[in-house]
Amino acid sequence: MNTLTTNDQADLIYLFCDKYHYPTKSPIRYSWRGKMWLCASNQNSILLLEYRYDIVVHDYTPDFTKFFMSKYEHTEILLSVSDLQAAYDLIPLITKRVYADCYSCDGRGRFDHRGHEYGCQSCKGSGKSDHDYTISTVKDEDYLIRLDGKYFTATRWNDLIKVLQIVKPDRVRLHQFQEEREARIFLLDDDAVLVLMPYHVNESLKSKFQIIDIPMGVQS
Ligand SMILES: [Zn+2]
Repeated sequence: MNTLTTNDQADLIYLFCDKYHYPTKSPIRYSWRGKMWLCASNQNSILLLEYRYDIVVHDYTPDFTKFFMSKYEHTEILLSVSDLQAAYDLIPLITKRVYADCYSCDGRGRFDHRGHEYGCQSCKGSGKSDHDYTISTVKDEDYLIRLDGKYFTATRWNDLIKVLQIVKPDRVRLHQFQEEREARIFLLDDDAVLVLMPYHVNESLKSKFQIIDIPMGVQS
């Protein structure tokens, strides 16, 4: 574990800002466990870093109640950083067409006008161009990582990998709530927390995927 410099914090937090949504375009402040956090949220993850007052934030308080509040006790399970990385490394790379963001809506798939949202007609709401693409090497989306009964695509798991590479924790603690909930909370050290949303796998499609399991519970 190392202490993040302000530059590390800024590099990391901006990776998680959602360029398409106004309040979360910039980092925000969030109060949790009696502490103030620097927070950013994209569509799949929420990152919290210890707030040290030297990164400019939006004055906006997100409602993350459903992720962080629990009326039940929770437990924490220790995970090995190398197991988390190894699972990602097992997913093979493939080459495929990666389509550019739609020029009309800048990838959003919709427009806001006077408080109303309209679907983009150019891309029919997909946010992607139908003809402008590059051939890219990407992780195979037919592989899923399974942790604690939930599934994660390589894209979502990559959010965790990016944080691990900068925070460098010795161990990761997985927050387990007694009641069923979707999000999985990873405590990377006292100053960094990542909330990851799993991927919903339709039962009938499960056999289409290769599943990689993360071992649960390692010796501390
Ligand atoms: Zn569009």
